[in-house]
Amino acid sequence: MPHVITQSCCSDASCVYACPVNCIHPTPDEPDFHTAEMLYIDPVECVDCGACVTACPVDAIKHDGSLDPAEKVFLELNADFYREPRPRPLLAPVVPPLQIRAPGALRVAIVGSGPAAMYAADEVLTIPAARVRMYERLPQPGGLARFGVAPDHQRTRGVSRQFDAITANPRLELVTGVEVGTDVTHEQLLADHDAVIYAVGASTDRPLDVSGADLPAVSSATRFVAWYNGHPDFADATFDLSQPRAVVIGNGNVALDVARILTTDPERLAATDIAPHALKALRQSKIQDVVVVGRRGLAQSAFTVPELVGLTSMPDVDVVVSDEDLQALPETDPRARILRDLPRRPGNRRIVLEYLQSPTTISGAPDGVAVEFARNELVAAPDGTTKVKPTGDLHTVTAGLVLTSIGYRGRPAVDLPFDDARGTIPNDEGRVVGVAATYVTGWIKRGPTGFIGTNKSCAQETVRSLVADYNAGLLA
Ligand code: NAP
Repeated sequence: MPHVITQSCCSDASCVYACPVNCIHPTPDEPDFHTAEMLYIDPVECVDCGACVTACPVDAIKHDGSLDPAEKVFLELNADFYREPRPRPLLAPVVPPLQIRAPGALRVAIVGSGPAAMYAADEVLTIPAARVRMYERLPQPGGLARFGVAPDHQRTRGVSRQFDAITANPRLELVTGVEVGTDVTHEQLLADHDAVIYAVGASTDRPLDVSGADLPAVSSATRFVAWYNGHPDFADATFDLSQPRAVVIGNGNVALDVARILTTDPERLAATDIAPHALKALRQSKIQDVVVVGRRGLAQSAFTVPELVGLTSMPDVDVVVSDEDLQALPETDPRARILRDLPRRPGNRRIVLEYLQSPTTISGAPDGVAVEFARNELVAAPDGTTKVKPTGDLHTVTAGLVLTSIGYRGRPAVDLPFDDARGTIPNDEGRVVGVAATYVTGWIKRGPTGFIGTNKSCAQETVRSLVADYNAGLLA
């Protein structure tokens, strides 16, 4: 098998379009693109040309001969995807170029400068002579690419090089330190541009609705992530790292990120982009165990397999999961392969994955807080999903720090309509419902799901809607 996609896959599908034999899937037009945890190379069809390696913005594609031992599992993960026959055309899908009725006339304002904004700008700038003005509230652009991606994920952070190239385009003007809605109004943007795209992300976290969630020892993972990544709004945040145990509630990829940062040897973190204030605090940390608690079972874990591989590859941290939880997984589940027979190394810090528990109350304790958990059992819901119901058993875990990691949440933008239940701006393929010449892309459009590169196809859909409206004379 010549080439293999590894952990840092961002799913932007650049490799798909570079591949001459259409052996990288799912492609953005295939139904499973939005649910896949990464993209996969077909080991039988790959012709070893290396075009995908050059196209990948995050160095996720390696020749099979250059995989390090921890990455060997990706050989199987790539091949597994093609065990079932997958009908597909011989050639990769071609994205038709955008064309506008009056070349050079299109002027677009983009609010935000994270991945969603960057991919939208890149798409608009494929139109000859179109211009983009990008507005960012902070002094630096980048959004979650700068302030969300974990500092030890250096290859993923490499996507910033691509975004730097986009902002270097002379037809893009980057305006930093300006907040839309405060320093400039939506109406002013519309007066100066043909259209406005909001790419403002999901800038807050979903709150945990249990009593005691407002105690000082409880914070959100999103706050912790922003703090260790040097986000200026969180430079003064403090977290109690003086006790041996921290609890993380929720088990998505953000939960794994914070668990990893809390347990990684600070000397290794020193070689990353971590904020100096966070490194200083983590050097003093007494945390030995991080307990990551999911309300459903191991099979329903929200983290992805590539991130689990990264977690279990840490040389000085043990990942612990109970035999009972492991036995509930089918043998064919890749997580079973990864979590089976993990080493126990005395003295190592530990990340303990616990399941079927929901927090019910949090109360003050002498050295932090006591979190009461209700044990759950799985129930099949009529819609086919797996939900939980409490068994009636309760137990308590004490910790110096509790981080809630139960998802990001969008906020209303200027006076645009807002779907409070989903935390998104209602839209039809990116067109804001009921508001002329106004569009959305990224997490504020579809909710906080997917990977950095998922925003590329999302932005393509939005910009195609915008261009169709422009060509139909609807943006006058
Ligand atoms: P997420 O993947 O949606 O996970 C949220 C977690 O919170 C789930 O375990 C969920 O459990 C749990 N949860 C929700 N409400 C809860 C409640 N009331 N009580 C207890 N648990 C609750 O969110 P995320 O980790 O913030 O990630 C957001 C997106 O960013 C994801 O698409 C993720 O893949 C992506 N991301 C990717 C990377 C990477 O690729 N390296 C890194 C970071 C983030 P249920 O499953 O039971 O609902």
